[in-house]
Amino acid sequence: MRDYDRIFVDGVWDTPSSDTKLTVRSPATLEIVGQCPQANETDVHRAVRAARRAFDEGAWSRLPMSERAHHLRALAAAIEARGALLDKLVPLESGIPRMFSSGSSSVPLLHYYADLGDASDIEEVRAGRPGASGPAIIRRCPAGVVAALTPWNGPVMQILMKLAPALMAGCSVVVKVAPETPLAAHELMQAVAETLPFPGVVNLLAGGADIGATLVRHPDVDRVSFTGSTKAGAEIAAACGHDLRRVNLELGGKSAGILLPDADLDTALPTLTTFGLFFNGEACSALTRVLVPAARHDEVVERIVAIVRSLPVGDPSDPSTFLGPLISERQRDIVEGYIAIGRDEGAKVATGGGRPEGITTGWFLEPTVLIDVDNSMRVAREEAFGPLLCVIPYDDVDDAVRIANDSPLGLAGGVFGPEDEATAVARRLRTGHVGINCQGQDWCFPFGGFRRSGIGREMGAEGLELYQELQCIGFPEGSRPATTRS
Ligand code: NAD
Repeated sequence: MRDYDRIFVDGVWDTPSSDTKLTVRSPATLEIVGQCPQANETDVHRAVRAARRAFDEGAWSRLPMSERAHHLRALAAAIEARGALLDKLVPLESGIPRMFSSGSSSVPLLHYYADLGDASDIEEVRAGRPGASGPAIIRRCPAGVVAALTPWNGPVMQILMKLAPALMAGCSVVVKVAPETPLAAHELMQAVAETLPFPGVVNLLAGGADIGATLVRHPDVDRVSFTGSTKAGAEIAAACGHDLRRVNLELGGKSAGILLPDADLDTALPTLTTFGLFFNGEACSALTRVLVPAARHDEVVERIVAIVRSLPVGDPSDPSTFLGPLISERQRDIVEGYIAIGRDEGAKVATGGGRPEGITTGWFLEPTVLIDVDNSMRVAREEAFGPLLCVIPYDDVDDAVRIANDSPLGLAGGVFGPEDEATAVARRLRTGHVGINCQGQDWCFPFGGFRRSGIGREMGAEGLELYQELQCIGFPEGSRPATTRS
């Protein structure tokens, strides 16, 4: 049982503004596994005030990149030292199996941004048009105070994906974590407290949509970085639009995994199925629409069903478990609701659809495969966010591309088959990421969505640029301006 009674604001573990606590239950056992203060509006103001002061008056935003990189590496070491505890907490509070998400496995992300920042210049001199203007310094300034809002499906990784580039850019950050998974976040802040002697540069709030909404509307926040549902993303975009606040949104997906007619089923199907159901299906990039050639439909379904039935379901802390419980009763209700919707629309359950036998507690659901799905059905168009695959037959490759692109969402995708052919198909997909015979995501690569899957790209060098504003300092002709690294 982890019991945190303070909030991390302005570089110290301080008394929260109210006695209200968030109680965290393991979604596998439903036992209470921890508690922490539930932030309220006053705490939001305290955290933003601290971040604002740190940014405007503190040293962090003015440090050379190399020094910020040094501190990021120290933070990585402190998180790594807590690796065993984080590896326990992540499956415990999120139900995401250890096989897919741990605390320590995200630490290299800090090193990636430390190295990237260290190697990049924040200023360059650009020549003006001859006879018209002198040179200019193009400067990448830190974006300011960042509100980083994260979901529960990767309690460490989701935070570090925002924190590492934002810190490297010189921003100060208020992290708002989902109420379901605040425990690992508190351990991360212990590491921050030990290694970053810059009060207010990182602050943590744990709570729900209400304080999230207060945070994204706060006049002292310069950029909102949000990962979560498309519905919440649209509300946040509207609020930020009103104030012209910068915002990047990483939202939901209903991604297609296309099995090409010549695909080798022995290699393709285990990978496709894994990336349809990984993270309990609670992964934004899950390949939940499985597009199969109509001529091979029955054979493919038989094999997918066999694979799905063989997946170990159970304790998310057990390294051999593939599927753990869903995050909450509400989330299981939503996914079960989509199975019912699919049936009503004419789809059939090929396997699953119920609760796993022999498991009496926890928000478990059998991995489920729906067949006879048409792409116009709600179950094929809306994100269920659970272990639910929809098999959709296609006539030819043009038809597969049409079906894949016919979606309100456009986050990810996969193409399985001969590499050249699969790559040609990938280039026709209107989606932010495509894996060829693999999942293919990495934090060196930009990630984000087309259409209603989001705005902007996290990760990679593009992820650092998110947290920078461009400034241009122009000079008269004949000047020779010098650049600086801070
Ligand atoms: P959610 O949108 O309900 O909540 C996400 C976070 O935002 C939480 O911290 C929540 O408290 C807060 N929040 C909710 N409504 C808000 C509002 N109106 N204003 C401000 N804050 C608000 O999402 P969830 O159920 O926690 O997470 C699942 C969703 O996240 C799925 O749709 C999934 O696809 C998406 N997701 C996307 C990515 C990506 O990179 N694109 C990654 C992971 C998850």
